[in-house]
Amino acid sequence: MSSIDLKATQSPHILVLGMGGTIAGLAQEPKNKPLQYQAGQVSISNLLGQIQEAIPKGLTLISERLVNINSKDLSESVLTQLALTVLSSLNNQAVQGIVITHGTDTIEETGLFLQLTCGKAAQTLGKRVVLTGAMLPGNAPAADGPSNLLNAVQWASTLLENCPGGVYGVFAGKVCMAKDLAKRHGTAPNAPLMDSPTSPLNLINPSWLAGVRAAESAWREDLPVPHTDEWPWVEILTSHAGARPQTISQWLGSGVKGLVLAGSGMGGFHESWKTPLDRALASGIALVRASRTGAGLVRSDIPEKDPIGCMAAGSLSSPRARIALQLALNAAKQANLVGKPLTWQDFFARIADLPEIR
Ligand code: ASP
Repeated sequence: MSSIDLKATQSPHILVLGMGGTIAGLAQEPKNKPLQYQAGQVSISNLLGQIQEAIPKGLTLISERLVNINSKDLSESVLTQLALTVLSSLNNQAVQGIVITHGTDTIEETGLFLQLTCGKAAQTLGKRVVLTGAMLPGNAPAADGPSNLLNAVQWASTLLENCPGGVYGVFAGKVCMAKDLAKRHGTAPNAPLMDSPTSPLNLINPSWLAGVRAAESAWREDLPVPHTDEWPWVEILTSHAGARPQTISQWLGSGVKGLVLAGSGMGGFHESWKTPLDRALASGIALVRASRTGAGLVRSDIPEKDPIGCMAAGSLSSPRARIALQLALNAAKQANLVGKPLTWQDFFARIADLPEIR
């Protein structure tokens, strides 16, 4: 992992951080089998070279490779490195905006993570942080990476009047808040935002913009970025027909700090989990109830009241609820160290209560 010497670059520029993914992928037989490829093969400077001609005049781009991975392998230490880089770059006066090229598989986690750790900073400084990627490798005939990258650079650099700084996602000619990125299809070209509230890039939808403003003003303070060795261990467990108590009980005494339950329907879980979950709660494991459906709300009083210590995920999907729980556990720990009697539930509620864009 490389570090960035921002002092070396004092003239205004857009910083483009490369993290890999399909946008940096290559297929062996691009014409016949474009989906048989390896992610994270092409350097970020090469990707920018492909769109050089189309970059608006007067705009300087500086690229930096953070990692070059398939995002299915994303680690928490890479997330730490990313947020620290974004925060220090936002505070560099020469950086006008930031583009991040990322694999689509886990862009949902990174989107929420950056919103919660860097969203307020980006908004306050009036700069945009833009996540993008691709569904087809760079050498496929219909590769979507170049146009997505160009659009992301444009969105990072044009601060339209009244359209705030913040953390966004750009795919297939559309923009969404990064916290709304969610890959809900294996192969569709707009998979990372096909189920998300979006606006076309070229004609900003006023009701989407009003939703962005509401979400941004509700987000009052960024959460601390966990150090690489500070990330609490949190797992996602899915309830299903035939679920067994052992799925829960095997975690007791394991050192796990939190469990996100991807329940069925409104977040219900199999009756066989009840006793081991009571034991998990009693042993101090943080519990969050989400839904495996991928949409809709999970509420603390429906279908029945949650036991004390368990939180409902609201509209957070289980991967997002996991990131939210990790950041909430860490934020509570940091707050307690300086004598503030806040709980993880206090921080989690702030995240789960963020207004949704409709
Ligand atoms: N497996 C790839 C990744 O997430 C998929 C993609 O980028 O579209 O890195």
